Amino acid sequence: MIIPLDVPHILNGNIAAKSLQTHLHSLHTWYQSTFHHPVHLGVLLVGDHPASRIYIQRKKKVAEQLGLQFTCWSFAKDTDSNEILDTLHHHLNDVHGAIVQLPIYPVQDARQYVSAIPPHKDVDGLNPKSIGQFTACTPLGCWFLLQHYGISVQGTRCVVVGRSRLVGRPLAQLLLDHDATVTIGHSYTQDLASLTQTADILFVATGVPHLITPPCVNPNSIVIDIGIHRTEHGIEGDVSPDVYPLVRSYSPVPGGIGPMTVTALMWNTLKSAFAQQGIPLNDNDCGRAWLAHHRSCAF
Ligand code: NDP
Repeated sequence: MIIPLDVPHILNGNIAAKSLQTHLHSLHTWYQSTFHHPVHLGVLLVGDHPASRIYIQRKKKVAEQLGLQFTCWSFAKDTDSNEILDTLHHHLNDVHGAIVQLPIYPVQDARQYVSAIPPHKDVDGLNPKSIGQFTACTPLGCWFLLQHYGISVQGTRCVVVGRSRLVGRPLAQLLLDHDATVTIGHSYTQDLASLTQTADILFVATGVPHLITPPCVNPNSIVIDIGIHRTEHGIEGDVSPDVYPLVRSYSPVPGGIGPMTVTALMWNTLKSAFAQQGIPLNDNDCGRAWLAHHRSCAF
């Protein structure tokens, strides 16, 4: 496994996110001064799920820090789905990227709204037709965190626990695309600990607080905790803190993948806006080489 010697014990998502946001701010400044309008992100919110409101506030804050325009289309839980779809269709032309804040119930409605977003504006990467255009934000956030610390997944044994369409599956695909050897665990996996122990990099996205305990890890592993739970002790993850002293490195909760996911959304939105201007940028360097070249040409 290629791990730089200076990789810290804690993979700090707040620091990595700020670093990426500094670059995204520069990218957006270039965009705005060239095309004379800000990049615009739209978010559909249906219902009054308290966690959803918190997530939307976080996205709005980061979007505005980067100078992006942010619009939330908010509807009461019992609004007719045709009314929501009409509004969505009407406003999609105004934005460069749009997302549906999940969860929305019933799930069939959520699927309809996600499918209404055209693939070139589906910055959450959730519409099956979007495959190849945008990587889902949480997997991309994990990838950006590893990149920030110079950790390459090529040739590593990665274990992903969780196989949801939102997190586990697109994450496994992303890791495969970068030449990792990937195994996926789920609720039917027998003897999960003996599988997770084999991981060079262990990713956990199960929604089960503290599922990963000391017998599940080996001392050389890097553990990426994607879970988020609001408990009486605060925000906790899928990995027990007892694991932290036993592993090579880990991402904490909070302050790990959460801020990276929001930042990945901003990147996807900028990428979408640039693509709509005929400028294709890629996830590997988030347009850094492109920006460096165009700035040097400008002076
Ligand atoms: P889902 O409930 O959609 O999927 C959970 C997955 O975990 C399923 O594949 C399930 O298996 C598996 N699983 C459940 N229990 C076990 C178990 N005991 N052993 C092994 N596997 C198990 O959740 P999501 O993927 O949407 O989210 C997972 C976690 O990530 C949640 O805590 C969520 O809050 C968090 N999250 C965090 C984000 C962030 O920005 N940090 C963003 C999105 C989610 P099976 O398929 O067999 O049911």
